[in-house]
Amino acid sequence: MRNPSAPHAVRVLDPPAKPGAIRSVYVHAPFCARRCFYCDFAVSVASADCDVWLGALTAEIRSLEREGMFVLDDTLDTLYIGGGTPSLLGAQAMEGLLPVIGEERLRNSDLEWTAEANPESFTQEVANGWRSAGVNRISLGIQSFHAPTLQWMGRLHGADGARSAVRVAREEGFSNLSVDLIFGLPAHLERDWASDLDEALALEPDHVSLYGLTAESATPLGRAVAEGRENLSDGEQYEEEYLLAVDRLAEAGYEAYEVSNFARPGFTSRHNSVYWSGEPYLGLGNGAHSYRHPVRRWNTREWDAYRVGTEGPGPPLEDEEKLDVGKVRLERIWLGLRTTRGISLQDLPSSARNRAARWEKSSLAVAEGNVLRLTPRGWLVMDRLTVELEGDLEG
Ligand code: SF4
Repeated sequence: MRNPSAPHAVRVLDPPAKPGAIRSVYVHAPFCARRCFYCDFAVSVASADCDVWLGALTAEIRSLEREGMFVLDDTLDTLYIGGGTPSLLGAQAMEGLLPVIGEERLRNSDLEWTAEANPESFTQEVANGWRSAGVNRISLGIQSFHAPTLQWMGRLHGADGARSAVRVAREEGFSNLSVDLIFGLPAHLERDWASDLDEALALEPDHVSLYGLTAESATPLGRAVAEGRENLSDGEQYEEEYLLAVDRLAEAGYEAYEVSNFARPGFTSRHNSVYWSGEPYLGLGNGAHSYRHPVRRWNTREWDAYRVGTEGPGPPLEDEEKLDVGKVRLERIWLGLRTTRGISLQDLPSSARNRAARWEKSSLAVAEGNVLRLTPRGWLVMDRLTVELEGDLEG
């Protein structure tokens, strides 16, 4: 039975709601010990200096207060520290964030405070320091348990590192633990995806995020693929691995609530759900995005340029866009299709409803009453389906 308090399906044609107060914050921690082969994130391969990081974030938040457009509410619902590798910043990093964000904003007993960690730097000391500061959810970058694969990726941990990081998190009292896994790896690695899934499930995480490997052109992997030195998995392997994961996770009691995210009951990521619902959020740090209707904007991507930018009179922005009616509509289709909220067929033209019926016949979607939700097979071709539906609304 569907949770009666689950959010309603997305209504694509409704006018944008007036933006409310910002109660969700993302903070980017850019440092990594080395860059993984496939990584396209805003990362700085430099020694992590926690004081400099905190100083830059403080300067950014002060300039936002002066500007007055992206000001935080007195209480936050979610705080997410992502990276990069936040665990490289050490045991005191989260406590150091308290005065930056405002300790009083984090007194909400219902606050979801997530921090990402990599196994090799998530020590008992780090876990203990973060727990004392108030972090209550850990997202652990495991990716695989297969040693040659981890080495190929450029990861710094082995399979045992992942197991011991999970043990440390549980010993320190983290009762909300997510793990990341990557699928769709090159066949020559002979990585056994089913066995990696079994290993991950044996650790009993509360939440699992799955990422299909892509080769972005600016990464070493992208260059290797372009030069013919490396091959990605073929489409068939990618599809098989994704669908296998959906089945295994469902059997183990995890609900697929978004194309890449699976949770035990009560453990969906509330922070990520803010991104998928159109509510406002603030991103701090290099490359971080913020949204408050109708404005989406993003910070300078490169760490040194961002840090210097925080010393200027305004926020260290790279660019911004204003969402018009067409863009809002497209984003709503995309947000509704990627989650189990689905989209409401009510008010949509007959061409869109006819298309939805065709998707249902092809097992790409399921309609329940007026709500259309993609199936996992539909999620595999979500980008194409989004564009098709948008075309019906334009026509
Ligand atoms: S640890 Fe994560 S953020 Fe850092 S280089 Fe690897 S994939 Fe990128």
